[in-house]
Amino acid sequence: MSVGRIRPSVSALPAYRPGKAADQAEKEHNITDAIKLASNENPYPPAPAVIEAITAAASGVNRYPDHLAVELRSAIAKWVDVDSSHITVGAGSVGLLRQIAMIYIDPGDEVVFPWLSFEAYPIAVTTMGGVPVTVPLVDHSFDLDAVAAAITERTKMVMLATPNNPTGTALDTGTIRAFLDQVPKDVIVLIDEAYREFTDPALGDPVTDLLPHFRNVVVFRTFSKAYGLAGLRCGYAIADPEVIVDIDKALLPFTNNQLAQVAAMAAIESVSTIEPHIDQLVRERSRVVAALGNAGWDTPDAQANFVWLALGDDTSRVHLELEKSGVVTRPFAGEGLRVTIGTPTENDRFLASLGTAPGSA
Ligand code: PMP
Repeated sequence: MSVGRIRPSVSALPAYRPGKAADQAEKEHNITDAIKLASNENPYPPAPAVIEAITAAASGVNRYPDHLAVELRSAIAKWVDVDSSHITVGAGSVGLLRQIAMIYIDPGDEVVFPWLSFEAYPIAVTTMGGVPVTVPLVDHSFDLDAVAAAITERTKMVMLATPNNPTGTALDTGTIRAFLDQVPKDVIVLIDEAYREFTDPALGDPVTDLLPHFRNVVVFRTFSKAYGLAGLRCGYAIADPEVIVDIDKALLPFTNNQLAQVAAMAAIESVSTIEPHIDQLVRERSRVVAALGNAGWDTPDAQANFVWLALGDDTSRVHLELEKSGVVTRPFAGEGLRVTIGTPTENDRFLASLGTAPGSA
């Protein structure tokens, strides 16, 4: 029996399981030199100006940070070319996800999202007493007609990760626009672009293509992936100013820590230093996809900094074999493996460990 009367929906919920750390895998399998390709992190360190900014700010952490991160909001607003009333900042986009769940979801409310998708979605919904309504993927991609058909008068929100985690497929803004035309105006549509910087620019930009036309659209982005700040926790939302005011109501006091604020501002200033790393990861992604294709693997369109191997029932076996050879990936039981694009050396290790023919790993 639980201590305290935990809500049954939360009690039944499995906790979020992050990707395994390399040193953990080393201990478990008694190996050395393991590499982590399990959490879609950037393998490159942040820009030197970011490290300088964090170092300079370190001595000031006896003070609380600016709760609203006003300076950072303005810097982001200028960068994405909107008024700062359209921006809020949170403890990673997962922090913002919890906030948005808190302000919109009452017990019994439905939230529709395609599945497989980001594992934090069902947790954010269920902890609020909401009801996740999942819509199966078709060819590892979203079926937005089916998502639209799943919306009822009890639906409060739709969550769309594009590119999708873990399959890597992405939506173009024309397709999302056609979908939004079918969505009631009081249903919030979250467009989670955690991996936006790795996508083909031809897919469009929801901020310019959708936000001016749909007040119910909320775009999430993050400094965790492309900008290499995963360890600091800084994500941002772009939305209608009224939605921003409401999201801010659920902002945990001072959750935007001072080091994250200065680091994110320095990252914006250093975009030109970071872009070559992003380009390198995109090139490596093409190389890995081509190598997998040559070896007979059929992978879906990869638009993020990872590839998806739809291994089905073979997932656990291949995951374990890769891990024993020191390559830590992220398994989705019975579905597949998500493998983060790392440095060229790391990617070579993954390809060599996987073997050259499907099923040979
Ligand atoms: N959205 C998606 C689709 C993700 O895959 C991730 C990271 N796993 C996040 C959001 C969260 O990123 P963060 O909280 O680090 O900004």
